[in-house]
Amino acid sequence: MDVYEGKAKKIIPLDDGKVIMEFKDDATAFDGDKKAQFRGKGWLNAQISAHLFRVLEENGVKTHFIGIAGDNRLIVERLKMYPLEVVVRNVVAGSLKKRLPLEEGTELPEPIVELYYKDDSLHDPMINHHHARVLGIGEVELEEMERIALRVNEILREYFKERGIILVDFKLEFGKNPRGEIVLGDEISPDTCRFWDAETKESLDKDVFRFDKGDLISAYEKLYERITGEVPARR
Ligand code: 5GP
Repeated sequence: MDVYEGKAKKIIPLDDGKVIMEFKDDATAFDGDKKAQFRGKGWLNAQISAHLFRVLEENGVKTHFIGIAGDNRLIVERLKMYPLEVVVRNVVAGSLKKRLPLEEGTELPEPIVELYYKDDSLHDPMINHHHARVLGIGEVELEEMERIALRVNEILREYFKERGIILVDFKLEFGKNPRGEIVLGDEISPDTCRFWDAETKESLDKDVFRFDKGDLISAYEKLYERITGEVPARR
């Protein structure tokens, strides 16, 4: 299998069913229209993802995570990925503002789960179960992904709350492992989640880059410190 290079990660298949996921310092937003590099972002995202995968595994959620394989690299189990992004939302932000007549920052009475078809040329359109079934993804699989996504939300929402952070929303990707199980893949990092400081409501995620809200590395470092209790060494 070939090396695959995405916008923020490189995927390097090994010959034993494992894959190296290398996190780059590149940041992109708005379909790749906005681009920049932040020294240390790859390291922070790799470490934060590893930490959160461990939290989830400890709470019984199956993920592709195996271990850390160097500064910016994780080693993970190879999955056959679904071309879907599963988004869970607790608080109104981002694209939800264009869909519902609710103000940014409004806490939702229950989490909202959304499905998007992962395709840059179509700009990752939002889809429903009917669309997904036409793409060959069965109802049982969709329900399993949504069930796991809501469980991930329960675990991480509480985990972050205890650390003074609001988990506003996040995006997950799933795949099937060689044993036929649906497991959590990709990453869980400030590139793929919205985190707000519970007191100041300051963003500790990629919105800092998307909307020029300050220094991205300082925000990611603050998040790292809150969850690991350690001050990250500057890369
Ligand atoms: P929204 O739909 O509001 O733009 O995004 C909702 C949540 O999912 C945010 O936490 C956002 O970071 C994440 N998300 C949605 N689509 C993508 C994507 O294509 N790439 C990344 N990195 N995150 C995404």
